[in-house]
Amino acid sequence: MPTEIKCPKCEIWNKDSDYCSNCKHPLSPEIIENNRELEREARRTSILPSRTEIFLKNRKGSRYFLLRLIYQILYTIAFIFIAIASFFAYLTATPNG
Ligand SMILES: [Zn+2]
Repeated sequence: MPTEIKCPKCEIWNKDSDYCSNCKHPLSPEIIENNRELEREARRTSILPSRTEIFLKNRKGSRYFLLRLIYQILYTIAFIFIAIASFFAYLTATPNG
């Protein structure tokens, strides 16, 4: 049983063919998926970071971690300060305090 597949690129009907007879665009879903996978693989290998890039990234990561730590400490101090301040505010606000 022959199957007709319409080319998504040039919209020509192709009979039992994996590629378009007009523009050679792949029509088989397996080939399209395969090509997509190959493209993905190529992109992955091309953006693979080099050793120095990994080193720099790790350094940046540790610097970020240090900043996070400082931020966390400051945040904790501020939180405690506000807690104490609100406690004193509460004390002065109460009539019998
Ligand atoms: Zn085509």
